[in-house]
Amino acid sequence: MAAPKRKKSKAKTAMRKAHWLKKVNIPGLSLCPECGQPKAPHRVCPHCGYYKDKEVIEVV
Ligand SMILES: [Zn+2]
Repeated sequence: MAAPKRKKSKAKTAMRKAHWLKKVNIPGLSLCPECGQPKAPHRVCPHCGYYKDKEVIEVV
């Protein structure tokens, strides 16, 4: 199998990781209006159990 000619630089690795972080953060970009924690859009907040200004589930 073909092997890479050079070791990947720290900068290249950092670039790839930065892009990966950006990509994974996009779907959960919605913030809870109750507690300000990031949550999935159109889902009950897992931190405070609120959805649309009402508490729908109890969080311990
Ligand atoms: Zn919340």
